[in-house]
Amino acid sequence: MLILSHSQVRELLPMRDCMAAVAEALADLARGAGVQPLRAGFLLPDRRGVLAWMPAALAAGEVFGIKVLSVVEDPGALGVDSHQGGVLLFDAADGAPLALLEAGALTAIRTAAVSAVATERLARPDARTLAILGAGTQARSHLEAVLAVRPIARVRAWGRDPAKVRAFAAEQAARHQVAVEAAASVAEAVRGADIVCTCTSAHEPVLPGALLESGMHVNAVGASIPSWRELDTEAVRRSTLFTDRRESLEQEAGEYRLALAEGAIGPDHLRAELGEVLIGRHPGRVSDDEITLFRSLGLAVEDLAAGRLAYRRARECGIGTEVALGS
Ligand code: NDP
Repeated sequence: MLILSHSQVRELLPMRDCMAAVAEALADLARGAGVQPLRAGFLLPDRRGVLAWMPAALAAGEVFGIKVLSVVEDPGALGVDSHQGGVLLFDAADGAPLALLEAGALTAIRTAAVSAVATERLARPDARTLAILGAGTQARSHLEAVLAVRPIARVRAWGRDPAKVRAFAAEQAARHQVAVEAAASVAEAVRGADIVCTCTSAHEPVLPGALLESGMHVNAVGASIPSWRELDTEAVRRSTLFTDRRESLEQEAGEYRLALAEGAIGPDHLRAELGEVLIGRHPGRVSDDEITLFRSLGLAVEDLAAGRLAYRRARECGIGTEVALGS
């Protein structure tokens, strides 16, 4: 079995290549290929984090496997990544374990790659201004991902800690050679933006619907627990809604569940899964003034598709640490 570390996973997964891998997995899922159960997990006894496990199988003959993660509260204070753990890949031919990949790097890249695929299909082609809410791991990878698919000339970032968001803006401007401003408020960040990515660990809405403007595209990434949400009901009501998996949205997305319970939307508010857009079953954005919302829940098939790509590359390049489990 091959072990791939955080830095090796990063080296093996360029954003564009990861986008192609996750798009293929989502398209397969929309065609009915692959197995994608809901994720499971529990709150740790001190209630300051969760253990989660996410199993899946790609299409017949491909890999199957599981991601196991700890997600801690306030990772910044502990000096660790919010998501730590491993993705275990198995060979569909004989059931043998193939690889164990560090899950923090893989999750950061594959989540942003999925949002980039959604942005490519749903944002206006002329989108030039990006607002990022949050200044952590997903904020960094989403900035890179959106730059890969739209001609972004200006980025505005907002975070709850002004010093952190200033540091984020300086670091990202230097990294990508693009103008990144630290915004003093969510309203300042979002005003006039063409694309908005919400990448916070907030439990309560940070993006109210009143701030959404005609033609925007929103990638909603955080709030992974059904009682949490980053967008309020008005934001969901005003948007044309897409997601990665219908069943996950219904069970795991606080924004959707609450808007439904409040009677602000009906079950037909969800237009399509991203995979359905990719295979042409749904056209995606249909007008320039529509507000599109991609609610990302994160699926194990995305982890497996990204993991398989990294594993194949690692084998080609001789990267990773081989461990013989059987002897
Ligand atoms: P990080 O800990 O790296 O970053 C979280 C960011 O959210 C930080 O900027 C943090 O600010 C900010 N934040 C925390 N609480 C609040 C709040 N109440 N209001 C506003 N901002 C807040 O986490 P990640 O970037 O790894 O993850 C971000 C979110 O994305 C999480 O909710 C995570 O569960 C989710 N996620 C979703 C995935 C998917 O597939 N959809 C995959 C992976 C993650 P500060 O630095 O000040 O603490």
